[in-house]
Amino acid sequence: MSLNVLDCTLRDGGYYCDWDFNESLVGKYLSAMSLAKVDIVEIGFRFLPQSKSIGKFAYCEDDFLNSLSLPGNISYSVMINASELIDHAKGIKAAVNLLFTDKKNSPVDIVRIATHFKELEQCKEIAKNLNKLGYRVFLNIMQITLLDSKTISEMSSDVRKWDLIEVLYFADSLGNMESESVSMIVDSISKEWVNEIGIHTHDNKNQALSNTMKAIESGVSFVDATILGMGRGAGNARMEDLLVEIVSKGYDKYNPDPIFPLVINDFSRLKNEYNWGPNIYYNLSAMYGIHPTYIQEMSGDQRYSSEQMLSAINFLKDVESSFYSFESMIRAIPRSLGDQNGDWSAKNWARGKDVLIIGAGPSTKLYIDEIIAYIKRKNPIVLCLNINEYIPAKLVTAYVACSEWKILAECSRYLDLQKPIILPLKNLPKELKKLLSNINILDYGLLVKDGEFDISDNGCVLDRELTIAYALSIATASGAKQVLLTGIDGYEASNPKQLEMISRLEQYKNLSNAKPIYALTPTTYPIEDKSIYMSERFDQMALLLETGKYFKLVCGAGNEDAEEVKRLTVLYTLAGAKGLDISANVEVVKACKEGVDLAFSLAEEFDINLKIRPFILVSVGMPGDHHVRKAVINLDTCIKCNLCIPVCPTDAIPESLVVIKDKCIGCDNCSAICPRPDIIHYEHNQRSLRQLLPECLKAGAEQIELHAAVSDDETIMDEWRLVSEVCPDGHISMCLDRLHLSNFAFENRIEKAKEIAKERLIIQSDGYPMSGGADDYNTTLQAVATADILNKKFNMTLRKRTNTLIYKKTNDVNQLLSGGTNSLTAKLAQQAGVKFQGASIGTFARQIVKEIVDDDDFYKNNKLIKKGYLIAKELVIANVGEINE
Ligand code: SF4
Ligand code: SF4
Repeated sequence: MSLNVLDCTLRDGGYYCDWDFNESLVGKYLSAMSLAKVDIVEIGFRFLPQSKSIGKFAYCEDDFLNSLSLPGNISYSVMINASELIDHAKGIKAAVNLLFTDKKNSPVDIVRIATHFKELEQCKEIAKNLNKLGYRVFLNIMQITLLDSKTISEMSSDVRKWDLIEVLYFADSLGNMESESVSMIVDSISKEWVNEIGIHTHDNKNQALSNTMKAIESGVSFVDATILGMGRGAGNARMEDLLVEIVSKGYDKYNPDPIFPLVINDFSRLKNEYNWGPNIYYNLSAMYGIHPTYIQEMSGDQRYSSEQMLSAINFLKDVESSFYSFESMIRAIPRSLGDQNGDWSAKNWARGKDVLIIGAGPSTKLYIDEIIAYIKRKNPIVLCLNINEYIPAKLVTAYVACSEWKILAECSRYLDLQKPIILPLKNLPKELKKLLSNINILDYGLLVKDGEFDISDNGCVLDRELTIAYALSIATASGAKQVLLTGIDGYEASNPKQLEMISRLEQYKNLSNAKPIYALTPTTYPIEDKSIYMSERFDQMALLLETGKYFKLVCGAGNEDAEEVKRLTVLYTLAGAKGLDISANVEVVKACKEGVDLAFSLAEEFDINLKIRPFILVSVGMPGDHHVRKAVINLDTCIKCNLCIPVCPTDAIPESLVVIKDKCIGCDNCSAICPRPDIIHYEHNQRSLRQLLPECLKAGAEQIELHAAVSDDETIMDEWRLVSEVCPDGHISMCLDRLHLSNFAFENRIEKAKEIAKERLIIQSDGYPMSGGADDYNTTLQAVATADILNKKFNMTLRKRTNTLIYKKTNDVNQLLSGGTNSLTAKLAQQAGVKFQGASIGTFARQIVKEIVDDDDFYKNNKLIKKGYLIAKELVIANVGEINE
């Protein structure tokens, strides 16, 4: 009788390494298969896209397979799970066509459909569509030992009638098949089945090989095996043993010799790493009809003691467990108690700091450079969940572990890390404690109690030993400002582990002492995300605000005179301004950028050490806001008194009295002096922000300011959300005043703005909008007073003992003084004890260099530029002090 040997190492072994086999191993494996004369290699699965990150052998896409050196004397198969295709939203046919092209264009010869008996009927359609595409189709019936002889015969008869299946396989999924049942199953199939029969055995009871040989003896002509038995659960029949055995039975086409080096040099190492193969637990699971995944999960998790595993098996044997269910497993695991009171108190350990928790998910590896850069930039407290090969120990503040098995597995490496290890020492057995005697342990307690989540200074109570929950407890108890996560990627939506983790996170969020949590790398959990790319520029800006060194030149939200903006930019960049507030107009942004470049090229010549480029901010406003409107003079009613011409700060009113729109900044000076109220009116510059703002950012702007001093709260917040969305990684500013808003409305709007922008928020406290020009205390009084209102609400707290307001250590809201700002603003604020994070000056700043900016020889005469920048510098220093770059 002819025999066909199928090796499915890469497919079944992939359960251990997430189908991520290295290239060199695969090369050696394929050439060994070819030399051993193995007939078929099942090279992997062809899964539909999964949310979890898994290796290429889980998908076996044609392009990927074509990139491998596939020996020509082998047929190649892939396995599909029938359930995946049956559940596909667009139906079976669409799912098949999504996964497979015409056989002519694919290196795959055979598709093996893995199915349970209950899904058999739908497999017909899968097979039909695969046949149509030209593939050979094998059908693999799982958990056949659950069926009686009659059912097996009827099933075989049904499948025969389809006339679509070349080989009917049966699999000993639970690993509990005895040799008599092998013969019974083969006989039952043979009664109705005329084509070939195949077998896939499992080694729970060390009988995979003997069952395979028995099947051959009974008439099976397709047999599976894997190198060193690598496969789900206890693994499979070993290919090296099978070949030796069948050669001895006369199948001398096969040659086991090329397999041996592969076993010794490569797969032994994998076996040490993943530890598959028969053991007492798999043996018991086979005896009791427990799905081997329970055992694989418990063994792989390394959290469970042998007593816990035996106790779980004891539980599972009495319930339906022939299918794997995470919920059943959770119910099966007996809980250890532990102790909530560790010897170490986490209190204030990370007070006011960010705590970054690094998990082991694939995104940590994927974003490792960004994570390292982030740590270096932000200097957070770094907690690493167990040992993580990708993060250098020098960047880790402490390692966190709470699973006894994980601690046992990693404790020999703790000493080399030279970092504290936070773990629940009291929960560990004596022997393990001994191994930790020379390690710097911070003993944070852990008590495991069903459904509970409680955090105290010395320990926590958790529903189970979940390292992330333990680390969250430490961060919380230690007074962290916020918790950031990387490598906490999550599972696919239907995975019960996902549901469990979501429920733990919700439980945490509901604690009264919970800290804000953000994910820096992609996650499927409902955690708000923050970009890990939030860049060096963001930090530079944050530092300028923190140190009060942020001076912003306001060129005018409505000022579209690109040339004037460029010249002002040159002078104020040289003078040390770090913000350039300009109209949201792409041409103006480009001109501003050119001005910055020119200033940097002149800096050396003037012996100025410029390092941080100023931030270009574009201003946009709501209809009705002063900053974005343009004056229009009605020449029919105008009495031509010309009073408006000299009061215009931007020379926007020529003798013709036709306002130059590019120059008008909507300041109101003209209408204030005009003898009649019906001559001058204002037009709002209507623009589509959704289109305009990204264009401005693309042109070089990094921040956006919304002028929001109008009463329509709802519309304002819609625009603000848009601004936040368009500029997710930069600071965004809201300009507010009390001329148009009551104190209450002013504070209320800031609250709402903060909810959306969080730490990106800047409030431009606009004392008396556009009232600048004069350099006296009275002009700047309202700027300081408005800032004081904001501080009292957000940045100060009541000291109960003395009943006085004092400043908080860190600001809740960053604010810039604005609206009537001049050279005396900072001085007045200091005298009044009003803190601010920067100054924003428009009219006065432009006015003091106007003559130079208007000079025709501006670019020809560096002396002129030098003179202008020295004037500007005085104003910068008067407000934010020397900028020492
Ligand atoms: S005075 Fe102000 S509002 Fe009037 S034209 Fe000049 S810039 Fe525009
Ligand atoms: S101040 Fe009024 S009336 Fe006089 S010129 Fe200007 S627009 Fe005309």
